[in-house]
Amino acid sequence: MRNFSKPLPLTRRELLRGTALAAGSMLVGCGQRGCSRSAPLEKRTADVVVIGAGLSGLVTARELLKAGAGSVMVLEARNRVGGLTISQEAAPGVFVDGGGSWVRPNHTRILALAEELGVSAVDVSEGRGSPIFLFDGVRIAGAGRLFSRAEMRELRGLRDKLEAMGAELPDGAPWNAPRAAEYDSISMFNWLSENSTTVWGRRDVEMAIDWTFGCGPEEISLLRFVAAVKAQGGLENLMAISREIPKVFVGGSQQLSLKMAELLGDRVLLGSPVTRIVDEPSGPLRVETERLSIECHRVVVAMMPADARRIDFEPSLPKPKKELIRQWSGSPDYKVHIVYEKPFWRANGLNGIGVGDGSVVDFIFDNTPSSGAPGILVAFGAGEELPASLRARREAVVDALLDFFGDEAREAINVVDMDWLSEPWSSGCASPLRPGVLSKYGAALRDPVGRIHWAGSDTSLEHDGSMEGAVRSGERAAAEVATALRERGVIPAPATSSG
Ligand SMILES: Cc1cc2nc3c(=O)[nH]c(=O)nc-3n(C[C@H](O)[C@H](O)[C@H](O)COP(=O)(O)OP(=O)(O)OC[C@H]3O[C@@H](n4cnc5c(N)ncnc54)[C@H](O)[C@@H]3O)c2cc1C
Repeated sequence: MRNFSKPLPLTRRELLRGTALAAGSMLVGCGQRGCSRSAPLEKRTADVVVIGAGLSGLVTARELLKAGAGSVMVLEARNRVGGLTISQEAAPGVFVDGGGSWVRPNHTRILALAEELGVSAVDVSEGRGSPIFLFDGVRIAGAGRLFSRAEMRELRGLRDKLEAMGAELPDGAPWNAPRAAEYDSISMFNWLSENSTTVWGRRDVEMAIDWTFGCGPEEISLLRFVAAVKAQGGLENLMAISREIPKVFVGGSQQLSLKMAELLGDRVLLGSPVTRIVDEPSGPLRVETERLSIECHRVVVAMMPADARRIDFEPSLPKPKKELIRQWSGSPDYKVHIVYEKPFWRANGLNGIGVGDGSVVDFIFDNTPSSGAPGILVAFGAGEELPASLRARREAVVDALLDFFGDEAREAINVVDMDWLSEPWSSGCASPLRPGVLSKYGAALRDPVGRIHWAGSDTSLEHDGSMEGAVRSGERAAAEVATALRERGVIPAPATSSG
């Protein structure tokens, strides 16, 4: 059985950023074996090719095999599986999530998958003590008062309006709402300017936007935000400090992908960026990498719509799908774990939560393991603001923590970061959409185009943008493909009980 825990060594090319890789990618090993772009493509066949070995792609492949597909191949561009989930070792034997991490109790499909795979989920330790707020250079901790009565009243009013608009949206298809075009013509910045008059009322909604989508209110439309408010069951659940205690997977959420990939074995090909899909109605369906040409009955593209920009589609996709892919925006994120001998903040009456308007990190949480040591803070920020060199970047993060937690924050024993901005195969961590995208092109999100199907968390009917959404989208895409293949007799119909 292949060991997917050990990524293939990075090629020099893989270390180069985005466009260079996308434009002229080579396979891992291809250079060593002397193949080149002009070398004839190795031909293979499969019932289904899945593109992307993130959670959604691996779930798709797994479900298709369960449904009776004879041969499924998963092509992954990176030299590892897991996509937006990655486990990092913060201290000997202590793993943290550089990407997707927290799940909610209502994330039932991923919790069931984890149980099947033997990965346990535990509650995040409930922080006792006070959070710290740091805005406009003013630090408020403990009993400090944040909201005036007027601001609380306004925040409740904003919440009620957003949730009432959310109630108008059809589940999983906000573009079909009667007022979709109207809500999608305005940015959250403009909506807040019209509906908010207090500093903290507005700020709280802006924080929910930043926390959920990693962007400012000018970068997201009202329709997109309201759809998220609805999908997450209310504005409160989009707030960084919500009342619900999330769970994390022991050993990190990448475990799920690693275990699925191990079970799929040689069906998963790493270092295999797909460059072209040819779906001429009169010819065979073909998926191509630099080295392979695979003929198949169906293909599933399992990634964020923006990621599909790197694939050439022949013939060209219909305009709504093409525009959706072209205009989809992914926000970059920077996630960093800062490790201390012990969680010193707890002794100071702090729960490790910090929220602020700093340019380096703006959300901080206590991520200390349940054993109580080492002390770990996890922080989020916008990668663009940080120095490129690893050392300078890590120093900037520790400096930023001093403002929240004081001098003790200087005593970090390790800093482990993940800058998604520099990851060539991910267009972003979350999907805020500017005005005019969702209402015009949203309907093209998951409908198959010819023999091409679409998975990826953003295509999920529920919990889109989360790991739960990724799992659900994989299950939906697999069911869709299995139905199509059964109709064509490629895979057998499920056995029915007689009599
Ligand atoms: C910093 C961060 C924090 C997050 N926090 C949470 C959280 O706490 N809880 C939560 O539920 N979710 C969280 N998420 C979101 C969650 O991780 C994602 O929604 C989910 O993992 C997406 O899975 P996916 O399969 O849809 O896409 P991806 O994981 O993006 O998988 C797509 C795969 O396709 C591959 N690919 C791209 N182009 C090609 C190509 N041309 N050929 C072949 N392969 C290709 C990519 O390399 C990738 O492996 C977070 C994400 C980030 C980055």
